[in-house]
Amino acid sequence: MAFKLVDIVRENIKRLTPYSSARKEFSGAAQIFLDANENSFGSPLPENYNRYPDPLQTEIKAKIAEINDVNASEIFVGNGSDEAIDLLFRIFCEPRTDNVLICPPTYGMYEVSAEINDISIRRANLTADFRLDFPAIENAIDANTKLLFVCSPNNPTGNSFPREEILKLAEMFAGIIVVDEAYIHFSPEKSLIGEINHFKNLVVLQTFSKAWGLAGLRVGLAFANAETIATFNRVKPPYNVSQIAQEAILEALKNYETVKKTIAEIVSERERLIKNLSAISLVEKLYPTDANFVLVKTSDAERIYRYLLAEKIVVRNRSSVELCAGCLRITIGTSAENESLLKALRKI
Ligand code: PMP
Repeated sequence: MAFKLVDIVRENIKRLTPYSSARKEFSGAAQIFLDANENSFGSPLPENYNRYPDPLQTEIKAKIAEINDVNASEIFVGNGSDEAIDLLFRIFCEPRTDNVLICPPTYGMYEVSAEINDISIRRANLTADFRLDFPAIENAIDANTKLLFVCSPNNPTGNSFPREEILKLAEMFAGIIVVDEAYIHFSPEKSLIGEINHFKNLVVLQTFSKAWGLAGLRVGLAFANAETIATFNRVKPPYNVSQIAQEAILEALKNYETVKKTIAEIVSERERLIKNLSAISLVEKLYPTDANFVLVKTSDAERIYRYLLAEKIVVRNRSSVELCAGCLRITIGTSAENESLLKALRKI
């Protein structure tokens, strides 16, 4: 049966008359703006922050569309990709009726967002070698499963899932498949953005927080067919991305070549760190990674975590997460930072 967006959008969202902001209602040429109850006298800052920002982030989208070879109407810009995750719940999931499926161990916000929105979570754990478990996924899905989250490269395991497998899921699943590509820029795998018009139920998330190095700005992206993105725009808060963030992103987008160089450096530093970690005796296993972190199985995660803290180095203790017993997740730092980490670990 062909996927139709109207079949899975919540009734209240279909009925919704979206908020119409002053900045959206009037877009012609004017010199005196008395329409939005802003402070016409200005602000304590030299810049024009007394005005509301562009609610649809037109300039940023034009540039992102160019880089990713999509139309601007196929891009949602949010206050971090966490905003896109939350919107997916609010658009598609009926509280206390619908459910979503995650494949743990995976990014924690899917579950937190589900709980906030009062949506039950179903789990199809990855296999012991962190692959997608197709029979478990198929078993867990029912008519009320509205979202299926696949994080690739996956946090905290670091591995990517084969493209054909994700697309197979998109084909068999009647709800929205959300492919979270927060770490895709560090991976040799190609993004699935190019598939958004072949699979109308595909939403691809990316972010400026990782490869772009702009976590502090809080800007994330969702790519999907224009009809799905139009629904995001109806539901999102009117001015969800600040003027400062929009200006900074526009500036950053001019430096894509520099960002690509940094990505290459991080990847090469990752390989160097992995090689050095593998020679340390308390490291029992290094899981293959396509991300800017590596999951490390150790002899005693808790003790090592505390020891590193005493050395003023903080890593992420994932040892209580399913399938991650004994594991620490280590972000790739600068070479000096990685050296300090290695030096500390060799001393234990
Ligand atoms: N997805 C994944 C897989 C993540 O690991 C993170 C952040 N740790 C996010 C999304 C959230 O990114 P953002 O900063 O864009 O909200």
